[in-house]
Amino acid sequence: MLPVRGRDGQALRFLGTRTAWTPIGDGEFFCPGCGGDRNYQRLTGRRRLTLLGVPLLPRGTAGPVVECAACRHHYGTDVLDHPTTRRFSAMLRDAVHTVALAVLAAGGTSSRTALETAATAVRAAGFDGCTEDQLAALVDALAADTGRVLGGECGTSLTIELHEALDPLAPHLARAGRESLLLQAARIALADGPYTPAERDALTTVGAALTICADDVTRLLAAARTPS
Ligand SMILES: [Zn+2]
Repeated sequence: MLPVRGRDGQALRFLGTRTAWTPIGDGEFFCPGCGGDRNYQRLTGRRRLTLLGVPLLPRGTAGPVVECAACRHHYGTDVLDHPTTRRFSAMLRDAVHTVALAVLAAGGTSSRTALETAATAVRAAGFDGCTEDQLAALVDALAADTGRVLGGECGTSLTIELHEALDPLAPHLARAGRESLLLQAARIALADGPYTPAERDALTTVGAALTICADDVTRLLAAARTPS
């Protein structure tokens, strides 16, 4: 028994499969292995049966896979669906900016307190130089532009803007993060008094775009009203 086993074991070591990888693209991705923004190569492979390390017979293709330039791990290409940290921060910053504009557009730009609350939130999200006056000018420009293009239907254009900013972000944001965005928006609306019907509409649209269910939106909007 023993010599046979030994021979089998040897045979298994002599025969193998080797994959030769060819790069077919590159870019930057978030590596789940080493946990950060890294360069990657997209690779496609050709498998060959080897005897004593010498390729003999083709054994089909492998991949494509994504190889991290830092840790050299291979992943399925679905790993590219995740945004990089850099891209994620930019999406979050744009989302806070758009949400602030939407709430200000609904509530008007006449309240200094609302503008200050909005500008503080936008600066905290990463637009360091954002001022109250810039936000007011943007909201006015948006209203003028919407008036011209869509014949005065202000809500429609902002709904599109909100979905463009929030839809790509929502799947990558944990529930607490999505709720926090809505609460920020609610605080801007509340800065100059109770919600107006237009503000409530805008906040409902924000909540829906963030995939927060209607009951939770109602609960969060009520919670934002209660000073903590
Ligand atoms: Zn890595």
